[in-house]
Amino acid sequence: MPKNKIQFQKGLSLQSFLHSYGTEEDCRDRLFKMRWPSGFSCPQCGCSRYYFVTTRNLYQCTMCKHQTSLISGTIFESSKLPLTTWFLAIYFITQSKDGLSGLHLRRLLGISVNAAFKMKQKIQHVMKSADDSLRLENLVELDDVYWGGKKKVVSEAVEHQEKLHFLQQSPITRKDTQYTCV
Ligand SMILES: [Zn+2]
Repeated sequence: MPKNKIQFQKGLSLQSFLHSYGTEEDCRDRLFKMRWPSGFSCPQCGCSRYYFVTTRNLYQCTMCKHQTSLISGTIFESSKLPLTTWFLAIYFITQSKDGLSGLHLRRLLGISVNAAFKMKQKIQHVMKSADDSLRLENLVELDDVYWGGKKKVVSEAVEHQEKLHFLQQSPITRKDTQYTCV
């Protein structure tokens, strides 16, 4: 059997992640580059020069004096948690193949239940928004699919019938091969 390239694709190990985003400064640098890839740009006047107000972590435009923060307008805004915690949450959620519960996230990060649930909700909302802008085209292959919800106790015959019904709604074909089971 040929090696499945997707299953063996290179991932990001926790060690590599912590090496890149282990400190608040690392996370701020990354966020700055993502937010202003061509350098700072004042959201008010577009000026590229700024002073950094160290006491309040704000960027002040030299032209119009407008002050903005790195996290304003992002999911990190109005959160008291450090960026390292947010980045780690993003790492755990995106690396989990079959989802991560809020309680598990809480245990992994050592934060409150409420904070964990809010983080998870915000991160997943952003992930959904990004996915919604992409349309699947041509051949779509599914592997290791997890459908949510508690498994119903049904007879083998009914389960088989339900599976076939679902698969018949979205047939996937490639050349002479027809994939009817995932
Ligand atoms: Zn300005």
